Amino acid sequence: MKKPVIAIDGYSSTGKSSISKIIAEKLGIVHLDTGALYRGITWFALQNCVNHDETINLTELFNSFPLIELEFKNDGGELVLFLNHINVSKEIRSNEVSKNVSFIAKQKEVRDFLMESQRNLAQKGGIIMDGRDIGTVVLPNADFKFFLTASIEERTNRRYQELINLGIDTDEQQVKENLIARDKIDSEREIAPLKQANDAIVIDNTMLTKKETIESILAYVKK
Ligand code: C5P
Repeated sequence: MKKPVIAIDGYSSTGKSSISKIIAEKLGIVHLDTGALYRGITWFALQNCVNHDETINLTELFNSFPLIELEFKNDGGELVLFLNHINVSKEIRSNEVSKNVSFIAKQKEVRDFLMESQRNLAQKGGIIMDGRDIGTVVLPNADFKFFLTASIEERTNRRYQELINLGIDTDEQQVKENLIARDKIDSEREIAPLKQANDAIVIDNTMLTKKETIESILAYVKK
């Protein structure tokens, strides 16, 4: 039996990645956190393609695509992102990357660069992919589509805890402002904006634990 292709989209810090990771383990399928790919490119740009005024030089970034190799590797049971063979899993969560990633992600060239590898990975089935445009653009024929949402207060709290656990210095107000700014850019961009697919199942998990959100998704998938 072909294993399912599952698309999980939604607002920042609704738990998409951590939930998808557990569902993948339970169903014996692969998990791809597409946000990490956009973050990886942003980290590369911040390291290598910066103008004198410290803004990102997009032309230089686009010309550098052949030099960018993004790969997920298993590191002690955890899938972590390697950029040109270096583990950047912590760097891609930094405030600097969070501040710039939506600007990078709205560029057509960047989205085109990442599209093919995302689609190729889903061809054989057996994958859960989380992001912003998976059910609408990357995998419109996915077997299951979910759209996660939660209140801004709850999402701020979750992201803040996540950053503290990673040892990244931050404050709650900064986290909240970043989430609001990213959701706005992601929803309003011209190419592949963040929006609910018509056939997506919407889950507001403000009042749900991670376990309850997972159970709710699995109930649909196992039906
Ligand atoms: O999922 P995460 O919050 O790590 O994603 C970081 C950013 O990457 C998002 O705010 C969005 O700008 C971009 N992104 C995207 N399309 C995806 C996944 C992420 O534009 N499929």
